Amino acid sequence: MTATYRVETWGCQMNEHDAERMAGLLNRRGLSAAASEADAGVVILNTCAVREKAEDKLYSRLGELRLLKKERPDLVIAVAGCIGQMSGADIFKRAPFVDLVLGPRAIKNLPELVEQARRQRTIDVNLHEDSVRFGYDDAERLTPGRARVTVMEGCNKTCTYCIVPTTRGRESHRNYDALLDEVRRLADRGFVEIELLGQNVNAWVDETRSRDFADLCRGVARVGGIKRVRFTTSHPLHFTERIAAAMGEEPALCPYLHLPVQSGSNAVLRAMKRGYSRENYLERLAMVRAKVPNLSLSTDFIVAFPGETEDDHAATMALAAEARFDFFYSFLYSPRPGTPAESLDGIPRAVAKDRHMRLLELQAGIQEERMSRFAGAVSEVLVEGEDGRGDHPPAGWRRYFGHDRHWKIVVFDAPRPLEPGRLVDVKIERTTPHQLRGTMAGALPPAASRSLSLPVMAGR
Ligand code: SAM
Ligand code: SF4
Repeated sequence: MTATYRVETWGCQMNEHDAERMAGLLNRRGLSAAASEADAGVVILNTCAVREKAEDKLYSRLGELRLLKKERPDLVIAVAGCIGQMSGADIFKRAPFVDLVLGPRAIKNLPELVEQARRQRTIDVNLHEDSVRFGYDDAERLTPGRARVTVMEGCNKTCTYCIVPTTRGRESHRNYDALLDEVRRLADRGFVEIELLGQNVNAWVDETRSRDFADLCRGVARVGGIKRVRFTTSHPLHFTERIAAAMGEEPALCPYLHLPVQSGSNAVLRAMKRGYSRENYLERLAMVRAKVPNLSLSTDFIVAFPGETEDDHAATMALAAEARFDFFYSFLYSPRPGTPAESLDGIPRAVAKDRHMRLLELQAGIQEERMSRFAGAVSEVLVEGEDGRGDHPPAGWRRYFGHDRHWKIVVFDAPRPLEPGRLVDVKIERTTPHQLRGTMAGALPPAASRSLSLPVMAGR
């Protein structure tokens, strides 16, 4: 049992990919994924520190694991990810049964750290600057067909609310050739979609080869066998015309962009130290929309940042109405330890919640309209798995889900089994604010195929 592990992940795509790297590194050392918690010899909690809620979740999960450790003292419990980095040895004080604490940049050492933790309590929260050179090829890609590729670690920005520069350190960028080699090997293994990852992904640069992120996108998009390329998360300050042009010109680059704005008020953007104004942001949207036809766009908002007035919130609402995002993630501001905004006076919770609700209500109508533009279209979907929710597909048919090139979730019926990881065309018949629904293109719609097949069935 000690040779089995379980990784539980909260948070962003970088964390999800960190979990894939952990799995790959442990597999190489002869460990294997546990079928269930009860079978796991090592449990790794791969945490997120961006908002306080995520921390609360960690300690409630640790409360459960404490009971398990009482029954099985040889169980190794590890706290990894951004809370590991942020809280360090304090985790041992609050949860003395934890055996190992490590930060995101210590993942390359995970197998050795686990071995050491079997003998004595262990911690590695060094911000290893060379971490970008290790362990990427070992990653166990867990999504069929889609491979995440880290282009940089860390973040050099100083947004006043954000813990990430503390937990993930200064930026280290991977080398262009190493990245292209990794993508080629992934293509050889049958991956068709690449997601380039970084906290500030579009600031990536390979100084030695004078390449920028637009060059990297074009290089990856041209690797044989790669059909779709996306990237996250872009910072508005680094979103250049060159990147937009690459998106418009390279067929493999998906027409989808996540460009976090955080607020529509210039006063709040200044207080957040984002480095751009609402006008700059909207200009950039117009620029990229002009270069990428039918672009889908999403963003992040932080609602009720300290000092945000009703007028500031109105400016955010106006920006959302003007930009017409396909969807957004919105968060109530959460003070993070050691950040410049931590000491600022917060907005009363009821006011914050009311502002959040109004923003979501505004978006509901916009989202419905943005989704409706796909009705009747044919979407290319990467099959991710079978959809077992809601009503059943017609007899003999299967229901699948996946994402299209616009990062929309598509749920569709197919007349035969499909392997996860392959691309299929789907005729969109119905849209909802959160999903597209349809039938595999070329297959007769379920109703028609049923009526055609009935006489045959009856004759048997
Ligand atoms: N690097 C990306 C960027 O600058 O847009 C985002 C990284 S951050 C992990 C993801 C999102 O979490 C941010 O875009 C922001 O909306 C949100 N976030 C970060 N710190 C937060 C805080 N203290 N309170 C609430 N939301 C926060
Ligand atoms: Fe945090 Fe700002 Fe860096 Fe994004 S750019 S990770 S919000 S500091």
